[in-house]
Amino acid sequence: MARLVVIGGVAGGASAAGRAKRLDPDLDVVVYERGEVTSYAACGLPYLVGDQMFDADDLVARTPQELRDAGLDVRVAHEVVGIDPDARTVEVRDLVGGRSFTDGFDDLLIATGAAPIRPPLDGVDSPGILGIRSIPDAATIDAVIRERAPERAVVVGGGYIGIEMAEAFVERGLAVTMIELRDAPMATLDADMGGRVADAIRDLGVDLRLGTSVEGFTTADDWVAAVATGDGELPADLVMMGLGMRPSVALAEGAGIAIGPSGAIDTDARMATRTEGVWAAGDCVESLHRISHQPVSIALGTHANKQGRVAGTNIAGGAARFPGVIGTAITRVGSTEIARTGLNETEAHQAGFATVAATAEGLTRARYYPGAQDLAVKVVAERGTGRMLGAQIVGGPEAGKRIDVLALAVWHGMGVEEFSMLDLSYAPPMAPVWETSMIAARLTAQAATAPAAK
Ligand code: FAD
Repeated sequence: MARLVVIGGVAGGASAAGRAKRLDPDLDVVVYERGEVTSYAACGLPYLVGDQMFDADDLVARTPQELRDAGLDVRVAHEVVGIDPDARTVEVRDLVGGRSFTDGFDDLLIATGAAPIRPPLDGVDSPGILGIRSIPDAATIDAVIRERAPERAVVVGGGYIGIEMAEAFVERGLAVTMIELRDAPMATLDADMGGRVADAIRDLGVDLRLGTSVEGFTTADDWVAAVATGDGELPADLVMMGLGMRPSVALAEGAGIAIGPSGAIDTDARMATRTEGVWAAGDCVESLHRISHQPVSIALGTHANKQGRVAGTNIAGGAARFPGVIGTAITRVGSTEIARTGLNETEAHQAGFATVAATAEGLTRARYYPGAQDLAVKVVAERGTGRMLGAQIVGGPEAGKRIDVLALAVWHGMGVEEFSMLDLSYAPPMAPVWETSMIAARLTAQAATAPAAK
């Protein structure tokens, strides 16, 4: 019987393992997960800490026992500490029993995910400086809030996880300061759209400090007491690091498995690494960006689940391909929704495109219909051809998911002119007669064909 070993039992790993087993019931599949929980939605963690509208158990799609019932040999609290691709073995440490052993594989799937970035600053490992990646991390934050009753939280970094956690702390009654090095939060948006997000963060009562660097942390009574910034010291009873994620590739790198230019594992569209019989999926791999044609490391559950499914299909002898990404993402701060797809202007320039862009402001419903919310849509297109390269949305409830129509257009390389005349739905309670995205596309179309400024 052929044997598949999977390292990591969350989105990428569990999807691949389950898919391979379903397609090939004779396949012997073992999943090693160093944590205690499998197949959970990390995306729900900020809301678990903040809203508290559901329990940690609700985030778990499939428990280890449910995966076992599906025929997978799932070993939690087991860490893979080495891979020998030539001998086709992994070295495993049983974190509870304390023993180590060697296990053999025909195919290996690496789905080790990503870890929060912790820059080597003075005091960065002090108690009270927290990150969020897993259900136990959320439980730790919850326990700190309950047991220590902190009054002031400092969130370092204004990306989507920082923003979601800032909101969670506000909901738990803390006074929150957010520090961001750039002039606007949400680096995945252009600064003009990020400025709208800054307003929404401040509307929530967060003290947002832009253009501010973090230089270190001080402690008192063995707990974080302040964050040293380029702009003075900020008292803190709790610090959340939200500086982004780095792919967890040390294990793969140690085994000589190729790492790509983005710092994540290099795979082909079948999710095969450059090492025979070794596959990879999820946050630890890089993906081809369909617009820039560059390898990118974008840690999102949407990609991890699809890549796991593709890898599992191929491991079981099928033929599936992961088509690449265009960086579509969405989040929320208070009642403001934030979404993006494709390339923003900065990314488009870095990829070598001459661009035009336009922003339109509109409403989510007909002007006269109660509940209409403001939204702004920015469209970025290639100068001359008018090909849509990307789009960004910031607006009230019901604004954000409008990004999906724009994502489809960007994915297929639609032109702004064509998009501005698309047959989209309209009825007063759901939309204005001209969708704001169509107006933004029309404005961009006018700019796209105008002669470049001399
Ligand atoms: P992970 O979920 O990190 O799983 C990897 C697993 O591998 C871990 O459980 C780890 O313990 C295990 N592992 C690592 N090394 C070893 C080893 N040596 N031996 C054994 N086990 C090992 N994405 C979205 O699309 N939308 C969102 O709204 C969103 N919100 C998010 C909010 C937060 C707070 C976080 C942290 C992430 C969010 N994401 C979101 C990202 C999404 O959760 C990840 O992209 C997804 O979990 C990646 O799945 P993965 O399987 O690649 O990695």
